[in-house]
Amino acid sequence: MVSKPPIVVIGAGIVGVLAAYALAKQGKLVLIVDRALKPAQVCSFGNAGILAVGHAKAWAGPGAIWSIARALLGREPGIKVTRLMDPALWRWGIAFLGHCSHKAHLSNTEKLQRLSRFSRELSKDIEADLGLTSELRHDGGLYLFRDETEFAAYTGALKQTAGSDIQVLDRKALIAKEPSLAGCADQFAGGLFCTTDSVGNCRDFAVRVAEALSKRFGVTFQFETSVTGFTQSNGKIEAVETDKGTISCEAVLLATGVETPKLTRPLGFTPNIYPVKGYSGTWSIQDEARIPTLPLVDETELMAVASYSGQLRVTALAEFAGHDMSLPADRTDMLRDYVARTFGDAVDADSAEYWTGLRPSTPAGPPYLGRIRAFENLWVNAGHGQLGWVMAAGCADLIAARITGQSAEIDGVSAAASWLENI
Ligand SMILES: Cc1cc2nc3c(=O)[nH]c(=O)nc-3n(C[C@H](O)[C@H](O)[C@H](O)COP(=O)(O)OP(=O)(O)OC[C@H]3O[C@@H](n4cnc5c(N)ncnc54)[C@H](O)[C@@H]3O)c2cc1C
Repeated sequence: MVSKPPIVVIGAGIVGVLAAYALAKQGKLVLIVDRALKPAQVCSFGNAGILAVGHAKAWAGPGAIWSIARALLGREPGIKVTRLMDPALWRWGIAFLGHCSHKAHLSNTEKLQRLSRFSRELSKDIEADLGLTSELRHDGGLYLFRDETEFAAYTGALKQTAGSDIQVLDRKALIAKEPSLAGCADQFAGGLFCTTDSVGNCRDFAVRVAEALSKRFGVTFQFETSVTGFTQSNGKIEAVETDKGTISCEAVLLATGVETPKLTRPLGFTPNIYPVKGYSGTWSIQDEARIPTLPLVDETELMAVASYSGQLRVTALAEFAGHDMSLPADRTDMLRDYVARTFGDAVDADSAEYWTGLRPSTPAGPPYLGRIRAFENLWVNAGHGQLGWVMAAGCADLIAARITGQSAEIDGVSAAASWLENI
């Protein structure tokens, strides 16, 4: 008997692994192909791990134009442009500017918030289903401000975009919410608390889900395999071509993050996904009482802070540097200095491990999610930017529903493109 070909998911990052889970739950035969050795080795490896529903907003907006101008002059601490003469950056930047109106910002932010809230609830269902309840904490998250004026301006602007899950905290209320900050609270003017944020190690979660996929759902993995192209006929992908041979397929889902444009260009469409570089440092915790259990974003210094498994992770920067993966000393120094200033000897300074990753970012903010118009069986789930961990479960559910011919629970959340029949 000839067995049916699988749905091939390309990419075993958090987005691909959770999409495979959603497809397998629908009874589909799934094969995941990735060029890495194991799941979550690329952008899903060392991110902050915050399911930051409270931070689900589009970067493009009226204020972004000034941030870019300051970044080009080297005066924006959280943003760096180190590869200005990159045609991909210009294509992306022009489209980004097209999304900087107030109206576009509100519309894109609304999509991101709806998708993030939907996704966060589904993450809990996945945890329960797979017995992964110790992987995530769902106690909310903090957004802190060092500057009084900035804090006041931010809380005022919140009225336009925030849901009822955001509370404003003065310094006293901040310490009551997160007592470990008592030692450094004088550095902050106040903060916001988002009741619906969660936190957990994204890589560990992806690895645990992948284990469950092969044990419980018969999903197969083909690692150390690079996809090089596709065999197509009459608007259908017949097979996936790799450096290890050809794989017949029922359908293909691209969960290839920043590599997506390279892979699809020969097929006649190029998703506008730019690699926005970020950095993280991870330290062993020496004094748990002085390290926050709630994840936090330092809105003034643009740092994200999270702790799990006895470690503190701090992430920073949005850098436009093409696909460069170097770890310059001034970037790692910035992380080290921040941790020393804020947490002192609560962590072991010598234990630092630094990492860099490329956020797969679209100009609008929401990911590309849906079917490629020119092909009846080619789908995309890529471009989650700074929110890939928070949106992965929701995107997985929506794309699996469409691939299996059902209606998606929410829609109108994807970035739009002429080549995409978007969800
Ligand atoms: C510093 C930093 C902090 C972040 N913090 C957060 C956070 O707190 N919360 C949050 O929600 N998000 C965060 N993010 C963003 C998040 O990490 C990403 O959005 C997410 O990891 C993207 O997942 P992905 O599966 O799409 O991509 P990836 O994890 O990059 O996976 C793509 C996979 O596709 C494979 N692949 C690509 N091309 C091919 C090919 N041709 N053949 C075979 N395999 C291929 C790659 O090997 C890779 O494994 C952060 C990112 C950075 C850089």
